[in-house]
Amino acid sequence: MLAASSSLLNIPTVIVDVGTQAPAKQILAPAAPHLAHVDGSFSDPEKIRELAAKVDVLTVEIEHVNVDALEQAQRTHGVEVHPAPSTLRIVQDKFRQKEHLRSRAIPVARFLDVAGPAAQGIGEAAAALGLPLMLKSRTLAYDGRGNFVLRDLSQLREALDFLSGRPLYAEKWVPFVKEIAVMVVRTAGGQTFSYPVVETVHKDNICHLVFAPLRSRDPQLYVRAQEIAEMAVKSLDGAGVFGVEMFLLEDGQILVNEIAPRPHNSGHYTIEACETSQYENHLRAILSIPIGPTTLKVPSAAMLNLLGASSDMHELTEFVEFALSVPGASVHLYGKAEYRKGRKMGHITLTADSDAEIRARLRELLQRLPGDKS
Ligand code: ATP
Ligand code: MG
Ligand code: MG
Repeated sequence: MLAASSSLLNIPTVIVDVGTQAPAKQILAPAAPHLAHVDGSFSDPEKIRELAAKVDVLTVEIEHVNVDALEQAQRTHGVEVHPAPSTLRIVQDKFRQKEHLRSRAIPVARFLDVAGPAAQGIGEAAAALGLPLMLKSRTLAYDGRGNFVLRDLSQLREALDFLSGRPLYAEKWVPFVKEIAVMVVRTAGGQTFSYPVVETVHKDNICHLVFAPLRSRDPQLYVRAQEIAEMAVKSLDGAGVFGVEMFLLEDGQILVNEIAPRPHNSGHYTIEACETSQYENHLRAILSIPIGPTTLKVPSAAMLNLLGASSDMHELTEFVEFALSVPGASVHLYGKAEYRKGRKMGHITLTADSDAEIRARLRELLQRLPGDKS
């Protein structure tokens, strides 16, 4: 999606990812022979060096990259790296990220390091923070795959097996009424611009639906959520868009869950629903060109993730054929070769003149969504 935006702005873009048919490479042919895409992993320092030698500005679409290599690219090739490697280092380690946010007075749930022998550390964390307890892997987490909800101490063995050997920390369970998110654009100079506050709905720890904008009877909620999100993003260095995931509590309190230092799933709706998409604004921010308006241009929008439900790609094609007949539905397929259970294969954005219309169209889609009858 970033490649599609860079293509529209005629910004030569080089991609590092495994294989010649990686999704982004399907969008963009190399602009010139010396700008050929790089075949390899974004965690391989050699591949990052290869990329750095070709470009002026380097950005990431995933935080689990090799930060040492990015810092070296900055030093030896003089490339600008956005967001700053120091930001990626903070965000990569969720415990460090939480410590950083807390030190900047950004509201987060109580959390504790699980130091020493894990079983003992978890027991101590449970005594201090109560049950259920959210155990999280500090590193390499996504789609909830590094999380374990400890409901009872008898599950200790199961938790340790699940999180086998990963560095852990514990978070107090948050009884949220809603999960909300704000995409924030940050310029290299530290100016920030918020997109609308959205509601995100997760299923099995994976983002399932996004509703834009969030509806609330409390008009101050939007202001508070955007203020907290901008404060969090201002505390990190470098340019680009950032996704700020938050919990909304019954009493209106907001806690930051985590920050994604890149375009984010909760901002996919911006492609059709906002004046400027998160991808275009990411490019504008990292290239220091004027930021576009972040406002909605439709009354109501929703986003539905297309997750693999089996290994039979046909069920996805059949569903997409139906989705194309739904008014206001825009289908995005990412070009991933293999259809696997739980894999993000694409998404659908719905836009409409009212929330009621959005709900009616979404209902039709959900009734036919493979593996999902909710
Ligand atoms: P991703 O990066 O894909 O958003 P992740 O693997 O980094 O996911 P988190 O965002 O930490 O995982 O958690 C996934 C989901 O688990 C959250 O969206 C929320 O629904 C739930 N969750 C996380 N932390 C807590 C908590 N402390 N209390 C209650 N629920 C939580
Ligand atoms: Mg995460
Ligand atoms: Mg998350």
